[in-house]
Amino acid sequence: MSELEELYQQIIVEHNRSPRNFKRLDDATRTAEGDNPLCGDKITLYVKLDGDVISDIGFQGKGCAISRSSASLMTGAVKGKKVAEAERLFHEFRDMVAGDRPMADPKSLGKLAAFAGVRQFPSRVKCANLAWHTLHAALAGAAEPVTTE
Ligand code: ZN
Repeated sequence: MSELEELYQQIIVEHNRSPRNFKRLDDATRTAEGDNPLCGDKITLYVKLDGDVISDIGFQGKGCAISRSSASLMTGAVKGKKVAEAERLFHEFRDMVAGDRPMADPKSLGKLAAFAGVRQFPSRVKCANLAWHTLHAALAGAAEPVTTE
């Protein structure tokens, strides 16, 4: 394993152990639910919008280490950002892990690049993407639960 891969693995392990923003927001203006039945990951996402800024965000749920750490890193990455910026990150992240397009620039993704290696494991891509698809649904105001199937 390269030094970089080791660092990435540490980030995932650490965020799984103590996820950031693992909380319910009572004053959320948007909520969305995500479900990845293939792995058994479930997430409820709470978003508080102040105009077009994500002023606070939290998630709850259960799932594997990849889904949990991805939700933790996602909430950290978009908190305080404008909706348009969060959507840009969603697209870059999806392209990075789904691998159907040239790799996004890991530099612009910061710690989120820890999931770049997931593209080698197609069954884990949905775990990594779940929180992001749920965010996308919450920002779009979708009422239907999100499922990866
Ligand atoms: Zn999973």
